Amino acid sequence: MVSGVLATAECALRVANCGLRMGRHILLLGPPGSGKGTQADLLCKALGIPHISTGVMLRDHVARGTDLGQRAKAIMDAGDLVSDEIVVGMVRERLAEPDAACGYLLDGFPRTLAQAEALDAVVGTDALDAIVVLEVAESELVARALARGRSDDTAETVANRFAVYRGQTEPLIEFYRTTGREVVAVDGVGAVTEVLSRIVTVLAS
Ligand code: ADP
Repeated sequence: MVSGVLATAECALRVANCGLRMGRHILLLGPPGSGKGTQADLLCKALGIPHISTGVMLRDHVARGTDLGQRAKAIMDAGDLVSDEIVVGMVRERLAEPDAACGYLLDGFPRTLAQAEALDAVVGTDALDAIVVLEVAESELVARALARGRSDDTAETVANRFAVYRGQTEPLIEFYRTTGREVVAVDGVGAVTEVLSRIVTVLAS
């Protein structure tokens, strides 16, 4: 436990030290349950950039019972995607906040080709410094998701989220590659700090 905490601190310091050389406009892709949220949090704290997670933003709307939240809840509980229009609007507004001026990490967005194209239209096709995809085998992901116990984590929803990921989000890797942007795959299996240091290595290179 203590060594885990120390390793995290050490790694965070390393991120901070090389932060100046690192691009700070980061897109983290990966299947549901791949640990994107955890890694995104750690990276954002270390780099001092905002963590822009459409999943977190949408769950916040649901918790606050906003109109948007009420419309999104059933869709999220089924593991389907909320409309591009809604999430693009949310992200566009978030990116216009002053704290996003020097960088950001996008987590869970874009999830469809239309969202990726909308992002390009908002920030430009050369805005992203790094596109990282966390890779984890599906059997491991199912086990992780069911252990998490969120209201949208039933076996059926989890299976649907995978199907949606494979069908709609995974093709973004090809989209970015064919439009001349590098996508780097990182092995997402291992301790949180191990995976973090793999991502840091990629970002610093
Ligand atoms: P997970 O980490 O399980 O993949 P998220 O926390 O990113 O899920 O998102 C939870 C749910 O919120 C998704 O299943 C989906 O219904 C909705 N959602 C989040 N981001 C988007 C997006 N970019 N486009 C459409 N729906 C989204």
